[in-house]
Amino acid sequence: MFKKILIANRGEIACRIMDTASQMGIKTVAVYSDADAEALHVLEADEAINIGPAAALESYLCGDKIVDAAKRTGAEAIHPGYGFLSENPDFVEAVLAAGLVFIGPSADAIRAMGLKDAAKNLMERSGVPVVPGYHRDIQDAQFLAVEAKKIGYPVLIKARSGGGGKGMRLVQNSSEFVGALEGAVSEGKASFGDGHVLIEKFISSPRHIEIQVFGDNHGNVVHMFERDCSLQRRHQKVIEEAPAPGMSEEMRSAMGEAAVKAAKSVDYSGAGTVEFIVDGSEGLQPDRFWFMEMNTRLQVEHPVTEMITGLDLVELQLKVAYDEPLPFSQEDLSINGWAFEARIYAEDAAKGFLPSIGRLNYFEMPDDFARIDCGVSEGGEISPYYDPMIGKVITHGEDRHQALANMRAALDQTYIAGVTTNVGFLAALCHDEDFSKSHVDTGLINRRLDSLISCGEAKSIDIAVGAVMLFLQRLENERASFGSEFDGWRAWGTGNFYIDLIHLEQNHFCAVRVIGEDRYEVEIENDSIALQLKPEFSDDDFSQKIKVEWSQGNFTVACVETDDGITVIGNARAFTYKLIDPLEADNTEVANASLIRAPMPGLAKSVKVGIGEHVVEGQVLVILEAMKMEHSLVAPRDGEIESVHIDEGDQVDDAALLILLKEIQSE
Ligand code: ADP
Repeated sequence: MFKKILIANRGEIACRIMDTASQMGIKTVAVYSDADAEALHVLEADEAINIGPAAALESYLCGDKIVDAAKRTGAEAIHPGYGFLSENPDFVEAVLAAGLVFIGPSADAIRAMGLKDAAKNLMERSGVPVVPGYHRDIQDAQFLAVEAKKIGYPVLIKARSGGGGKGMRLVQNSSEFVGALEGAVSEGKASFGDGHVLIEKFISSPRHIEIQVFGDNHGNVVHMFERDCSLQRRHQKVIEEAPAPGMSEEMRSAMGEAAVKAAKSVDYSGAGTVEFIVDGSEGLQPDRFWFMEMNTRLQVEHPVTEMITGLDLVELQLKVAYDEPLPFSQEDLSINGWAFEARIYAEDAAKGFLPSIGRLNYFEMPDDFARIDCGVSEGGEISPYYDPMIGKVITHGEDRHQALANMRAALDQTYIAGVTTNVGFLAALCHDEDFSKSHVDTGLINRRLDSLISCGEAKSIDIAVGAVMLFLQRLENERASFGSEFDGWRAWGTGNFYIDLIHLEQNHFCAVRVIGEDRYEVEIENDSIALQLKPEFSDDDFSQKIKVEWSQGNFTVACVETDDGITVIGNARAFTYKLIDPLEADNTEVANASLIRAPMPGLAKSVKVGIGEHVVEGQVLVILEAMKMEHSLVAPRDGEIESVHIDEGDQVDDAALLILLKEIQSE
């Protein structure tokens, strides 16, 4: 076996690969950018080499620097992970030319599957079912319009080099065709330098079901059953599961055979995924699945396959790359139970899934009944340079019900502070009635978006807990100043203490009364809530768990002090509260929401308003390009633009003041 390998990636996947490598006694070399000098993958590796500045183009995407690092450290092979250089055939060739092993398929296999149209043509020739459509060379708009009509509306136009849902347009009827074609072509050109498109039948109520395949250098290819990735938002996977709900043995073997055929047609070696689109409108039927594309790498969601098969896909990748034959045949593989994976992102669902950057000042996830694949730990940073994924939660159970119950429990016991996360959104999804009953399709999330997001909003009980915690924090400060005999509830008696707090730019005026040991009554707006907060001690200085008991049940929260307030986390939700100090200008500003600041460093792509203009709540003021995406910054309330502090094309820092809003002056 290899003695030392280099991992050309970062984050959770780099750590995941290192785990298996070290179990196999293989030494690991990490590469890192300036932004990742203290990242977890660097700390976990045996050696680490800096390969340049934060921007991926100057570090993680620089094949020559990575090959050079491997040679300098004496690594024999390079594992690319997913993303970055993992599906770049030129990189594979450079690795081989340097006399190293690429842990993955051949450059030819990657090339053959790299363009959606060429891959589909190859699949058709190999006898793999392909979505009806046009995927040949002619690109004339008139011609394509005729083809679209032949296929039958609705159709999907796809950029052949596209990925991540980019360069894709759904067209409902012929009058929309030309406009949509222009959109797909220009997005393909802008994002992938390739305006070539293909057209295919749009499958209504589709499911995304993919097959994990594995080949070796000796002509063996097996499949490891399916994963259902139908829970998507904007064509991006959110929760994956295996096996697929409603899958019959007949359909499973038809799909498995088709996937093995696809892999064999390109002499595939290593881990790969053949993605199919499935028409699930009348249940799963063996003649209603079609090839979409093949991903020639280890997939983000590979752990669900590991959980139901008991295999370690990274271990197999290493063995196969070392020229060993697959240690089993198709008949040896079977499915055990059910598994789910949820992707935890630093993003704010309520703000259009805007990425959230910052330091994880509290981080705790249950690793006793869930598998946690993470690329950051407490104190680590989510930087603006890369994908804001924090990690993945993977659960297993005897059946779907048990695996899903474990996922709900795992999300409820996830405590993250410092960045906003999608944990609440994921938890709401796991409680969704259709999802719970296995009724999944790729449109589910979109149909439920509003309710999935609003599940994360603070209720009176949450605010009450926040008010008590702020009260206790204030008490603690007073004690520090006046000495330990200053005992809150006895000294303060049963009077009211007024806590004026801000949560999400909204003021809540609360009256807190101490009614016994650890017991409080909080009046908020027109509500009065009696609650008991019992500390559960831990050895952590900064935070402690607190058990909340009130008339409607019990739950446990973690309370984390931040620079300007507290964050209360629990039940898959996290809320940050600040005390309003009337003397502090900044807080007043938050309350009045007059300052529009950059939520992260980025480029001011477009400035939509000028001084003196009247705007209404929700109106787009500025479009900021950051983390490879465009973010619309909107007016928090009605008002008049007092001043504009940026020009289009300006690079702005995190929290930079962009626009100042004032009250509309009545004439
Ligand atoms: P990308 O490479 O950009 O991710 P894919 O071709 O893999 O694009 O498609 C992404 C997603 O778009 C699929 O998972 C599915 O949800 C949807 N999709 C793709 N093709 C079709 C189709 N023909 N009909 C309906 N939905 C589709």
